[in-house]
Amino acid sequence: MINLKFLRLLACPLCKSSLKLGTNNLKCVNCNQEFLIVGNIPILVAKTSKHVEIQAKIFNKEFKTYDKYELENWRISYIRRLFEWLELSPGDNYLDIGVGGSGYTVIEASRKNVFSVGIDISFEGIKKAKYFAENELKNSKLCNFAVANAEYLPFKSKTFSKVSAISVLEHIPNDELVIKEIARIIKPNGKVFISVPNMYKRINPIFWMPYYIHDKKVGHLRHYKAEDLIEKFSKQGFNIEGVFYTGHFPKMLQIFLSLIHPKLKNKDSKLWWKFEEMDLKRSSKKSGLQLTLIFKKVY
Ligand SMILES: [Zn+2]
Repeated sequence: MINLKFLRLLACPLCKSSLKLGTNNLKCVNCNQEFLIVGNIPILVAKTSKHVEIQAKIFNKEFKTYDKYELENWRISYIRRLFEWLELSPGDNYLDIGVGGSGYTVIEASRKNVFSVGIDISFEGIKKAKYFAENELKNSKLCNFAVANAEYLPFKSKTFSKVSAISVLEHIPNDELVIKEIARIIKPNGKVFISVPNMYKRINPIFWMPYYIHDKKVGHLRHYKAEDLIEKFSKQGFNIEGVFYTGHFPKMLQIFLSLIHPKLKNKDSKLWWKFEEMDLKRSSKKSGLQLTLIFKKVY
């Protein structure tokens, strides 16, 4: 069964009207478009393009290999700053756009008694994440999933108080559509966590080549200059609350050394956390590979 509270938040991804629940589908009361429910997962994909299909294929392949739920150190560290910077607390309605196949953002948020929704373009990813959520959580009703694209969010307006989009915007041809959709579905004073690749000019040239190869491999369409993204969000009624740069030399060293000595990644590895701490200490330095912005919706 799909949670009723979750069903009530859903809307047609195309015309944003209400959806009517059928036996194995949801039907828009306005435009009559039908959306299937497969294994209790609503498939609310509005429009596809060649680019979206290729991306879904890449991610389906990757997420299919996920076989167990594991909070590696990097995920623990990520969750900490995600929840802290978003000021996530029970009472929030939280949406993660591009939740992926581990579902760890929404699973860990639900563990903190936050009503959470994860969406992704990859059906395989959502299937895995939902399976993990049901195994991990005592109350999996708090943790809900749908397949959807970020440019056509299948939710009613002013639904969520906290939203994250981690490594999403750089994959999307028209990222302004996504920003407009986030502005629509967020509540007044709601907070948004956006993480994207930092512009090449600001990062050390020795990382240009490996980053470029990575970009091509995973389908990144662009990198971002903080000021440009801040302008795009401010046009949609957001104030900037925080600018953070991560992925400095200590992080690169941590990743590199972990490849040679996998034990460095162990849960009790003091050295791993030392590198992490050093990296986060540099979060105001513009040379980090990853850029994270925190916005607040003001009007
Ligand atoms: Zn419709």
